[in-house]
Amino acid sequence: MRRTKIIATLGPASSSEVVLRNLMLAGVNVFRLNFSHGSHEVHASSIAIIERLNNELGLHVAILADLSGPKIRTGMVEGDNLLLIPGDELIITTNNETCRQGIISVNYINFAEDVKAGEDVLLDDGKLLLKVISSDGSTEVRAKVLQGGVLHSRKGVNLPKTKLRLPSLSEKDLKDIDFIVTQNIQWVALSFVRTANDILDLRTKLSELCIGKPPRIVAKIEKPEAVENAEEIIEVADAVMVARGDLGVEIPQERVPVVQKKLASMCIAASKPVIIATQMMEGMISNMRPTRAEVSDVANSVLDGADALMLSGETSVGNFPVETVETMNRIISDVESYGVYQPDVEAPVSAHERKISDSVIMAACDLAGKVNASALIAMTHTGYSAFKLASHRTGSGIYIFSNNRQLLCALNLVWGVHGIYFEMFSSTDNAMLEMQKVLLARGYIVPGNYIIYVSSIPIGKAGKTNMLKLSLV
Ligand code: PEP
Repeated sequence: MRRTKIIATLGPASSSEVVLRNLMLAGVNVFRLNFSHGSHEVHASSIAIIERLNNELGLHVAILADLSGPKIRTGMVEGDNLLLIPGDELIITTNNETCRQGIISVNYINFAEDVKAGEDVLLDDGKLLLKVISSDGSTEVRAKVLQGGVLHSRKGVNLPKTKLRLPSLSEKDLKDIDFIVTQNIQWVALSFVRTANDILDLRTKLSELCIGKPPRIVAKIEKPEAVENAEEIIEVADAVMVARGDLGVEIPQERVPVVQKKLASMCIAASKPVIIATQMMEGMISNMRPTRAEVSDVANSVLDGADALMLSGETSVGNFPVETVETMNRIISDVESYGVYQPDVEAPVSAHERKISDSVIMAACDLAGKVNASALIAMTHTGYSAFKLASHRTGSGIYIFSNNRQLLCALNLVWGVHGIYFEMFSSTDNAMLEMQKVLLARGYIVPGNYIIYVSSIPIGKAGKTNMLKLSLV
């Protein structure tokens, strides 16, 4: 059973029911709705189809809504084609003008106030590079082209060295959040996170608007400031995405692989899921087979201990969305068959409110390794034990039982977690017997296997795991 999860971004290549079904059967664990593209109507239709297919196929495929965040863009380009020549000087204006020879407009009103002489302005995913010469502090910035090329309309602008005062949620994000809270969406990703406060602000917004449990939050790490503030961001976020597309523009791209490794191990130590995203199998947008380098990238991300790997263009606009997921599934399964990532961090048993739960779960995972247990089994109301069990990255299957389908979907992002719908029982003893029956019936365990339960006594105390039982099936 594959441990590392697969996230597929939806788009025109993948929003029909036939393709969605095939993607789910090929092993997608989470669908990402990219709010930079597509209308609310299109997203609502995909969500309805996924819910229907989850019921029909008995799956818990989750939905991750990815907010655009405060992305700065250039304006429309005259004729959609503007050649920037190295050495040329030009004006960047915040006035709403068409980009043309000698002038480029951007949609961030405080641009000229925020940028300073000597800072870099990158356009179109870093393909074009300008250096700021001076700013009038109001509406105009003079810049020199260092790396030229053709600029098209509405391309992304990255300012890696500039301290931006942009709010973390744009007006569009706020409208998207109003839509998101009306849907069964388990995860919301925030783009261009800079500080832990960006996450806290989104959490407050979601809590104000949601009637039930708000969606969990994924912090996208794609700015140098976010890398610097990673520890605090990881502490307040529910999961992290190493968003290598923008990250590789905002920091030197040769630094991305090591940042990926560091962020992955920090997240695992904090029991927060970590997603590795972007250009995993980019070539499969147009080819049936990945390159050797792409296979290695997928494999190395598995070896870094990622909870989930994310496909973007490959499944949203590519020619082979289902084949890409099938290929990724094969690579992950093969790599995992050689053993799983071993965290090199001390298990957390600090003196906080979860000390008992954390200690019991740590002991269960330690024991699982010693007796080569086939299954670690838990019932959960909040998901806490699932996140914790997964963070120990043992070789045992992790089976999480819950009567909350939304929670089971949310946990589908988490490394190794296999969620099973289960009506809760009145006693821990009964529940353990019933859970064993389910796992036997599905062939996940067989007589002669060791299995380990973690639970709370009395049953049903949320977040109070205080019992571990080792059984021989
Ligand atoms: C990225 O930049 O890697 C990313 C995942 O974000 P987006 O696809 O929204 O640009």
